[in-house]
Amino acid sequence: MESRWNEMDASAAIGRMGKDFGEDLALRVYSSRIIGQDTDLVVHGGGNTSVKTTFVDLLGEETEVLCVKGSGWDLVSIEPQGLPGLDLQALRDLRALDGMSDEEMVRQLRRQLWDPSSPNPSVETLLHAFLPDKFVDHTHADAALVFGNRPEGFAEMQDLFGDEVGVLPWTFPGFPLAKKVADYRDANPQAIGLVLHKHGVFSWGPDARTSYERMIDIVDRLEQEIQRRLQGKQVFVDVPDYTEGSFKLMASSALPALRRLTSSNTGSEFSPYQPMIAEWRPTPEALAIGEDHENRWELFWSTGPLTPDHVIRTKSAYVVAPADDEVLAAKVADYSLAYIEYFHQASKEREASVTMLDSFPRVFVIKGVGLVALGKDKKAAIAAADIAEHTLRGKMQGHALSSYEALAPVEVFDMEYWSLEQAKLGKAQEPPLSRRIALVTGAAGAIGRAVCRRLLEGGAHVILSDLEGDDLDTAVAEMADRFGATRVASVPMDLCDEKSVKQGFRDAILAFGGLDILVMNHGIAHVSSIEEMELADWERVHAVNETGTLLCCREATRIFKHQGIGGQVVLNASKNVPAPGAEFSAYSASKAGAVQVARVAALELADIGVTVNMVHADGVFSDEGSGKSSGLWDVVGPERMAARGLDPAQLREYYKGRNLLKVPVHASQVAEAVAFFAERKTPTTGAALTVDGGHAQTFYR
Ligand code: ZN
Repeated sequence: MESRWNEMDASAAIGRMGKDFGEDLALRVYSSRIIGQDTDLVVHGGGNTSVKTTFVDLLGEETEVLCVKGSGWDLVSIEPQGLPGLDLQALRDLRALDGMSDEEMVRQLRRQLWDPSSPNPSVETLLHAFLPDKFVDHTHADAALVFGNRPEGFAEMQDLFGDEVGVLPWTFPGFPLAKKVADYRDANPQAIGLVLHKHGVFSWGPDARTSYERMIDIVDRLEQEIQRRLQGKQVFVDVPDYTEGSFKLMASSALPALRRLTSSNTGSEFSPYQPMIAEWRPTPEALAIGEDHENRWELFWSTGPLTPDHVIRTKSAYVVAPADDEVLAAKVADYSLAYIEYFHQASKEREASVTMLDSFPRVFVIKGVGLVALGKDKKAAIAAADIAEHTLRGKMQGHALSSYEALAPVEVFDMEYWSLEQAKLGKAQEPPLSRRIALVTGAAGAIGRAVCRRLLEGGAHVILSDLEGDDLDTAVAEMADRFGATRVASVPMDLCDEKSVKQGFRDAILAFGGLDILVMNHGIAHVSSIEEMELADWERVHAVNETGTLLCCREATRIFKHQGIGGQVVLNASKNVPAPGAEFSAYSASKAGAVQVARVAALELADIGVTVNMVHADGVFSDEGSGKSSGLWDVVGPERMAARGLDPAQLREYYKGRNLLKVPVHASQVAEAVAFFAERKTPTTGAALTVDGGHAQTFYR
C-alpha cells in the first residue's frame, strides 16, 4: 500500500478550510479523505479519525478540544462539520472511572460537545481522547483482518511488528477498550500504532502526515507479508468463460426469486410483502467462489465478518448456491433457521432482551451469476456489496494462508445488537413506496417525468424507459440530480420492437433486482380524418399505443409471476377512450385497445396479487416540474388551435373552461393518481380514475 499524501493537496486543503476551521482541522479532513479513498482501509462509514486542537469560545478563552469523526459521515467525503469538537479535558477525566455503560458514555459525549447541534461523535471517541497523540487514525484495513483472523494470526503479528506496533486481543468497543488502548500507549512510548485483533488498526502521531503514513506503513507491512506467503498459491479457482449475455440471463432469473425469498411479511392481507432491493455484481472473485461452492461452502456459511462493524450491513453468514430456485429457497430457509438459533443462543448467553431483526441473508454468491447483495434500498445494497467484495477476497486469502477464523458468534451478536451500532442504520419510518421498483414507459414525456418524480418522492426506485436519446437522458439526469443517482436507472426501449421490449425488461430487473410497479405512460398521436388516414400512420400509432401495451404487460407479467410478490400496473389511458375526438381515430382506437388489454390483465393477474388500473387524464399541456411540453399536444395542438382559431395560451384557457370544475389539469395531478394505485392503498383492480376536471362523458358507468 502506498501513501496518497500529496503536499500540494494538503496545502490546498489548508487554503480551502484553514481560515474558517484552523489548520489542524483542515489537515485532519484532508488525511481522513485520503484514508477513505483506499477501500482496502475502510468502506462505508468504517474507521474514524481525530485531532486534538484548541477552540476559542465567545469570551475569548482557549479550550483544548478533540475533533473526532461524527456518526453518519464517511471518511472519503468528510467535511470539518463531520468532525465535531468535544471538551478534551472533560473526556480525559473520565479515564479515572472503573466502568461506564454505553448509554452513559453517549450521554457524556453529547454533554461535552462544543456545538450541541453536532452529530453524535464516534463510539470510539474516548479511545481517541485517552491517547495523548495529537492525530489518531483508525481503519479496518483488510490486510490486518486477512492476516489476523486466523488461529495463529495474533502471535504472527506480534512477531512481525516487535515492539513498534502493539497487538491487542479482541475487546468490545467502548469504555473498556478505550482504557486498554490508553494503558498500552502509556507503557509503550516507542509504538507508532497498534492492531486490534479481528477489528482494525490504530496509528498516531504529532502531525497529520506522520499519523497517516504510519497507518500506511503498518498496513503495507501486513500486505507484503500476505503477498509473500501467497506467492505461487491459487486463491480462486478458474472460472469458465461466461458471456455477458449468460450472466445477465441467469441474474435476471435469480434476482426476482431472491426478492421473494427474502421479503418480510407485513401482516396485511392485501399488501403483505416488504421486499429488498438488490445490487448485482458479476465480479471474478464471486464467480470463482460460485464455481467452487461445494468445497468452500462451510467456510462462508458459518464464519463471522472480517470486522464486527460489517455485520450490521451484511449479516454474518453469506449464502453460496447454484442458480436454482428450489436450491435457493432451501438455502434461505436453512439460513433463517440458523439465524434464529444464533439469535436465541447468543441473546440467552448475554441475557439480552432485544428484538430479533429479520432472519434473511443479505449477501449471496450464486454460481454463474456472481455477487448479489440486498438492502432496504439501493444505497444499503451497494454498501453490503462493497463490504462483501472485500470479505470474499479477504476470507479466501485467509483460507489460502492457513484458515480463516472469525470472532465467536456471541461476539458478533454483541455488535449486531449493540444499540450504538443499530443507531447507524436509522430507524426512520419508511415512505410508502420504499423498497418498490417501478418501471415507467414514456418517462421522458411531460406526464412521464411528473410520474417518475412522484414515485421517487414516495420512496420508490424508478427505472425510466423511453426511446433512446437526449430526452430520456435529460429526464434521467433530472431525477438523479434531485433524488440521488442510486434510486434512478434507465432502460431505453422501442415499444414497436418485441426484442427491444424483452431486453428492456430484462435489463430493468438487473437495475434493482425485480419489478413491483409498471406504469405504462407511453403514447403517440396522429391527427387525420378516417377518410384521409394513411395505413402506415394508423399502424404506427397502434404499434406503440396498443401492441406496446400488450408487450409491456406480457413481460411484466412474466416477472411478476416469477417474483411472486404481487405488483401494480397502471395504464395512462386517456379521456379519449370514453370520449373520442374527431380526426383522432388512430389514437382513440389504439388507446381503447390498450385499455382492453389492461382490463383483461386485471382479470388474469388478480390471482397473483397484481392490480391493474387506469388513469384517464385530459388537457395536460406540460410538466410544470421541468417545463417539458406534452408530446401529444405538440402533435395535436396546432390543429386544434387552427380549428378553433386560438393561439396556444388561449387554447389552454379553452380546455380549462371546457371541464366542469373549470380548472387546468397538471401533470403532477395525473402523477398523484398513478401514485394512488402504485401505493396499493385500496383493494382495487380494473378501475379507472379520471383526472380531467370533470366531464359528463367520463362519468362512472
Ligand atoms: Zn473500528
